[in-house]
Amino acid sequence: MDFLPIFFDVRSRPCLVVGGGEVAARKVDLLVRANAAITVVAPELGRSLARYRDAGRLTHHAREFRPEDIDGCTLVIAATDDGALNGEVSRRCRERAIPVNVVDAPELCSFIVPSIVDRSPVIVAVSSGGAAPVLSRLLRTRLETMLPAAYGRLATLAETFRDRVKRRFGTLAQRRRFWEEALQGPVAELVLTGRERAAKIAMEVALQQDTPGSLSVGEVYLVGAGPGDPDLLTFRALRLMQQADVVVYDRLVAPAILDFAHRGAERIYVGKASGEHSVPQEQINRLLVRLARDGKRVLRLKGGDPFIFGRGGEEADALADAGIAFQIVPGVTAASGCAAYAGIPLTHRDCAHSCVFIPGHLKDGGELNWRALAEPRQTLVVYMGLHALGSICERLIGAGLSAATPAALVQDGTLQSQRVLIGDLASLPAKAAEVTMRPPTLLIIGEVVRLHERFAWFEPAGSVQATALRTA
Ligand code: SAH
Repeated sequence: MDFLPIFFDVRSRPCLVVGGGEVAARKVDLLVRANAAITVVAPELGRSLARYRDAGRLTHHAREFRPEDIDGCTLVIAATDDGALNGEVSRRCRERAIPVNVVDAPELCSFIVPSIVDRSPVIVAVSSGGAAPVLSRLLRTRLETMLPAAYGRLATLAETFRDRVKRRFGTLAQRRRFWEEALQGPVAELVLTGRERAAKIAMEVALQQDTPGSLSVGEVYLVGAGPGDPDLLTFRALRLMQQADVVVYDRLVAPAILDFAHRGAERIYVGKASGEHSVPQEQINRLLVRLARDGKRVLRLKGGDPFIFGRGGEEADALADAGIAFQIVPGVTAASGCAAYAGIPLTHRDCAHSCVFIPGHLKDGGELNWRALAEPRQTLVVYMGLHALGSICERLIGAGLSAATPAALVQDGTLQSQRVLIGDLASLPAKAAEVTMRPPTLLIIGEVVRLHERFAWFEPAGSVQATALRTA
């Protein structure tokens, strides 16, 4: 180890930055966050530093560096583009044992500044000892995605309970057990999802237990997995996948996504192939309730967004009835995913002011209001529409839409197997039959479909690209 990693208290202490440009400004950003008393010596200040000066966050000496500038400093940073000057600042500081950092010159530094992930009061610092700063920045980005934004709030909550936990549990082992459970279990989940009041109550309850760790509360996470491409998962979905004990998933959840679940997690498939309901909804509801009552953290993983044609509402209903705690995590719905990956904007100032999501068929064979749907300047997105494609197109024409209205079918949207078929209300059904489109397929109808020709950008290997737009 070439450097000793430490966290340095500079609150209200004199810190000097030599240099007034953007590189100096990045270091000043950090010193500001650490509440240092900052002086900047530079003939001129760039825009960011001028803003800090105007806000009274730093003292500026508009001149060249002088040796006496370092008198009494807690630390010094040299960030000028003058190598000789940087070297001089470094030498003078070292002579007087004042910690000094020279940006991008590890050999002139007595300390280096790590890349950080700031979840104050939690700070993660990463350094390659100056060997490969880009590598530490990349690593930092990875950590950034792993640590929920509210992680710091968890530490703050822990701090407010620290003394009480110490009094309540006599031994170190007991306390460690208590904190491990609190910081990874339901309490943490409440804090991370912004339910702080409930988190405090849960902490109070946990403090009443006789032995720490006996409090295992089941919970259900209703999570949207997005349309298929694993990159479209949310950070929260990923985090919950890694902590769930059981994953209950649908057919639409891509295998590559399921791979992110915790290795030890039990997986239960309740998929429905199009048209056949392999596990009735009521049975899924009962399963979720039972698993949560057993104290499990249950991840109910659904394609797209749980609240858009996903029956998330019915499951939440059953959980609320049973008094089971749950949270709902949105996902990229098929309409957004398919539209983006097919290069078809769902709204556009020139041709579509509204966008309506409809199902291809209704429960109990009911009818949609086709007249209201046959509006000009409106995009229609039909979920589960492949089976009834012919009759949907017919009804829209019957209700007044032009037979030449452009329409697209997107199969396996966002996946490597994505296919896009373009036509119009008159031609699309026959074309779809000809090239055998298969579910899951999304139907997009409206003038916006014309833009596909210009905006198509996603062309995975093996995909069958669009048949050119042919209006009748
Ligand atoms: N909750 C989901 C929708 C479930 S209904 C969501 O928000 O996306 C199932 C229908 O969604 C399918 O019949 C199909 O129309 C559409 N769908 C889901 N994923 C899709 C994909 N990757 N490509 C095309 N259509 C998709």
